[in-house]
Amino acid sequence: MAKEYICIVCPKGCHIMVDGDDISGYSCPRGLNYIKQELVDPRRTLTSTMYVEGGNIRVCPVKSSDTLPKDSVFDVVKLIDKTVAVAPIKIGDVLIPNVLNLGVDIVATKNIDKI
Ligand code: SF4
Repeated sequence: MAKEYICIVCPKGCHIMVDGDDISGYSCPRGLNYIKQELVDPRRTLTSTMYVEGGNIRVCPVKSSDTLPKDSVFDVVKLIDKTVAVAPIKIGDVLIPNVLNLGVDIVATKNIDKI
C-alpha cells in the first residue's frame, strides 16, 4: 500500500509517494535522499530554547549539532527543558554534550552576556 510523505528539505514541500520500491513525487535528488533516509532511519535537527542563569536574557536558543533520531526528539526536548545554562554563553558553546549518548551535542545559537 502506498504511503505519502512530505519532503521537509526545502519550503516547496513535495508530496512523495512510496509504494514498495517505487518512489515518486520528489522534484530533486535531495528529496530522494531525504525519503531514502526517512524510510530506514528518520532523523531531525532540533531547535529549542534553554533557561539561563545569570544572563542578560533568561533563555538561550539552542540546536542540535547534527540530526537526531526522530524518536529521541521528545526525550531530548524534555532534558533541555530541565537544564539551566549559566551565562556568559557564546554561540557554539556546548550546553549538553553527547545528549542521551546519541553522539550529538546541544549547542547555543546566541551570545548571552553575564549580568
Ligand atoms: S523534493 Fe526537492 S524540491 Fe521537493 S521539497 Fe524536497 S528538496 Fe524541495
